[in-house]
Amino acid sequence: MSPSNELLHVSEQWIALAEATPAEKFAWRPVSGVRSTSEMYMHIVTANFGLLKVIGLDTPADLNPRLMTITESRGHIPRRRFLAAAGVTAAAAWLGPRALFDESGDVLVPNAFREAATAKITVQTLRRNISVLFGAGGNIAVLTGPDGKLLVDAEIVTARPNVSKAIAGINADPIKQLINTHWHFDHTGGNEWVHEAGASILAQENTRKHLLVGTRVEGWKHTFPAAPPGAIPSTVFAENHTLHANHTTLVLKHYLPAHTDSDISVHFVEADVFHTGDTFWNRNYPFIDYSTGGSIDGQIRAAEANIAKVTDSMIVIPGHGAVGGKADLVLFRDVMVDLREKVAALKKQGRSLAEVIAARPSACTDEEWGNGFMTPALFLEWVYQGV
Ligand SMILES: [Zn+2]
Repeated sequence: MSPSNELLHVSEQWIALAEATPAEKFAWRPVSGVRSTSEMYMHIVTANFGLLKVIGLDTPADLNPRLMTITESRGHIPRRRFLAAAGVTAAAAWLGPRALFDESGDVLVPNAFREAATAKITVQTLRRNISVLFGAGGNIAVLTGPDGKLLVDAEIVTARPNVSKAIAGINADPIKQLINTHWHFDHTGGNEWVHEAGASILAQENTRKHLLVGTRVEGWKHTFPAAPPGAIPSTVFAENHTLHANHTTLVLKHYLPAHTDSDISVHFVEADVFHTGDTFWNRNYPFIDYSTGGSIDGQIRAAEANIAKVTDSMIVIPGHGAVGGKADLVLFRDVMVDLREKVAALKKQGRSLAEVIAARPSACTDEEWGNGFMTPALFLEWVYQGV
C-alpha cells in the first residue's frame, strides 16, 4: 500500500468510526478531567496536524483552522466534513493505521471502561453487616464494622465516582481492607484508589504476579499494562488464608485453575455468605481466560467445588449477576456441562467454530444468559477452544 493510499484507508476508517458514534456520545467523557470522545478525536487530529508537512503532504485545502474552537463550543464534531478533510491524514501520519482502527478487535475492554463510568451502582443488604454492590464490573461485597470496611473486589477503575458514593452511602466507616477474588480489571480496577483511601490489599499470589507485569488477555484481544504500585496486593497467599474482621471470620480458598489461575472464594462464616468471584456467573455466560490459566474444564471443576461447598441457607455472591443460592450454582454447572458436551461433539465431527456458532447449541439460554459481558458467540468460542 502506498503512503497516500494508506492515509486514504485510515481516513475511511476514521469516518466510519465517527459515523458509528452517535452524535450525543461525542460529549461523553469517562470521568471529569479526562478527554471526551470529541476532544480525543480532536486531539489526535489537530495535535498531529503539523506532521503532514514532515511526511511531505499538503495541508487539505478546505480545513478550517477554527475547527477546534467550533468543536469545543458545540460539544461535538461536525463529523464527516472535518474527518474527511483533515484529521485522518494527520492521525495516520502520527500513529500509523495499525495503531488506530485495525482489525485488532480490542473493543470489549474499552466498552467496559466506558459503560462502567456511567453505570448505576445498586446496593443490596444481605445478612448481618454484609452488603453487595452491583454495577458494570464484578460484584463488590462490603463488610462493615468497628475495624472499618472490608471490600471484596473493587470494580472497573472508571466506576470509581459511583462506587465510592455507594460505599460511603452504607455508613461512615472508613475503608480498611480489600480482598481481590482474582486479577481481572473489572475486579481490581479500583485497587489503587481504594488503597489510597486507606485499605491494605490481600489476594492470591497469582493476582499479584499478573498485576505486576503487562498482561495480554487473548480472549479480550487486550493487553493490560502493569498496575500502578498502589494497586499491587501487599499480602498474598498460595492456597488458604483466614482472617478476622468486624466480628466475622473470613475463609479464603484458592480454586484449582478455573476462570484464571488466581481465583479464590471468600466465605463470611458467621453470616454464611459466600463470594465465588468469577467461578460463578449467575445467568450470564462466563468469560474464560485461557491466557492466565483458565479453561472450560477448570470453570466446570470450580462450579462443582462451589456446589460441594454450598448449604441450603448460604447466600452466594457471584462474580457477575444477581445474588443466588444452591439452585443457581447447580443450574450454572448444568449449563456449562451441557454446552461443553454439545460443543465438543460438534468439534469432534470436524465442525469449525463458525459452524458451531451457527448451529446455536446454546439457543435455549442465549436470551437470558447472553445479554451481559459475554455474547453467546464469544462464549462458544471459549468453550470451543478448550474441548
Ligand atoms: Zn474475571
